[in-house]
Amino acid sequence: MAKKVLVMGLKKSGLAAIKLLLNYDYDITLTINNELSIAERNELSLYNVKIYEKGHPLSLLDEEWCYIVKNPGISYNIPFVKEALNRNIKIISEIELAYQLSNNIFLGITGTNGKTTVTTLIYEILKAQLDDVYCGGNIGIPISDIVREHGDNNIIVSELSSFQLMGIIDFKPKIATILNLAPDHLDYMNSVEEYYESKLSIYFNQDEHDYFVLNIDDALVQEYVKDIKAKIIRVSLNKKADAYLENDFIYFKDEAIININDIKIIGKHNLYNIIIAVVYAKVMGIDNDVIRKVISNFKGVEYRLEKVDGLNNNCYYNDSKATTPDSTITALEALSKTDLILIVGGYQKGLDNRPLINYLNKHANIKRLYTFGAIKDLFEDVAIETIKLEKLDMVIKDILENYHNQTILFSPATSSFDQYVNYEQRGEHFNKLVKGE
Ligand code: ADP
Repeated sequence: MAKKVLVMGLKKSGLAAIKLLLNYDYDITLTINNELSIAERNELSLYNVKIYEKGHPLSLLDEEWCYIVKNPGISYNIPFVKEALNRNIKIISEIELAYQLSNNIFLGITGTNGKTTVTTLIYEILKAQLDDVYCGGNIGIPISDIVREHGDNNIIVSELSSFQLMGIIDFKPKIATILNLAPDHLDYMNSVEEYYESKLSIYFNQDEHDYFVLNIDDALVQEYVKDIKAKIIRVSLNKKADAYLENDFIYFKDEAIININDIKIIGKHNLYNIIIAVVYAKVMGIDNDVIRKVISNFKGVEYRLEKVDGLNNNCYYNDSKATTPDSTITALEALSKTDLILIVGGYQKGLDNRPLINYLNKHANIKRLYTFGAIKDLFEDVAIETIKLEKLDMVIKDILENYHNQTILFSPATSSFDQYVNYEQRGEHFNKLVKGE
């Protein structure tokens, strides 16, 4: 009899899991919280999948499941998941499923900030020299889709969120890193410790044939990361390590790889992103001139301190992806020598804004603050002149009425869900508004 798999939640990753499972002899059941859209219903009607809509019936747990593939967005605190765990049913993420059903080299990247930038950069460097390189995971392409389309013997650069890592059992990346740790996702996790610890499973299955890239400048990473069995490659921008910065050059094992004046993306945080990408590339045997060429041409990823030309001859930086106060501080650091107008705003997800407020009060280059959306009233203690508005379009209208030849930083410091589907939609809206489209 075919083994039974329960897929919880559809979206992109649930659908990818189902399509991958269809290649094998599995009996598939799908449960979703809401109702299927017409397009989803049409697509699923082509497959042999049992479907339960409007919730996850507890009675299903009486059946024999080989595992539950849970969408990372579904909380571990809902009764169905809690009961499944009570009954020792394996709950995995779509990443783990793809790992178990294929034979590929996985390179894993996690951390609070910089995952997409580093994943993209590593992917760009590797594919400049090697065949069969793909990137996926939290970056938006389900790894199950890559595995279904390309089978075995590929290199898969995998951006991993904490939610995806919570569903890991055997996943074993050849190279792994935790870029940095800072508070995030307190609306989903039971505690900040739980969030930090969820990241650690990226290296739990590694052994002495694998590599762990350790950022020795990050105090929280140093505090939490222990019992690494992989070979450790230490990176630092402050002192000599296996990869380090000295006299404007990034070095790997005493070999100068790239002069930082040849880099287009701005900010110290991006130097971390680059140094980590250099390490992955070197471990994978990429030539120095290829590494140098790709890094010096890399303009960054959309909506991450993306420089945008817009109306009134202002210079706009679209950092819609900055969904924590910490990443907004990072953007401010990158532009600390420039006079700025800062825009923050969005969904109230319970993060502590005080470090950001302290930063704003200490830095005279931030000349004006605009706040909007659900968090617009949370910046009362800021000494800078602040304008509170309901929506982003009102903010841009006010800026266009009042400012020319200025630098405008849109770095919201929180998620977008009060007014947008996601940060991409928010970023796209910002670009349109400042271009007058
Ligand atoms: P992630 O995928 O982890 O959310 P991104 O590469 O999309 O990370 O970058 C998101 C934001 O995080 C950027 O806009 C930037 O402000 C900040 N950031 C990027 N890299 C780093 C880093 N290495 N350290 C701290 N902050 C960073």
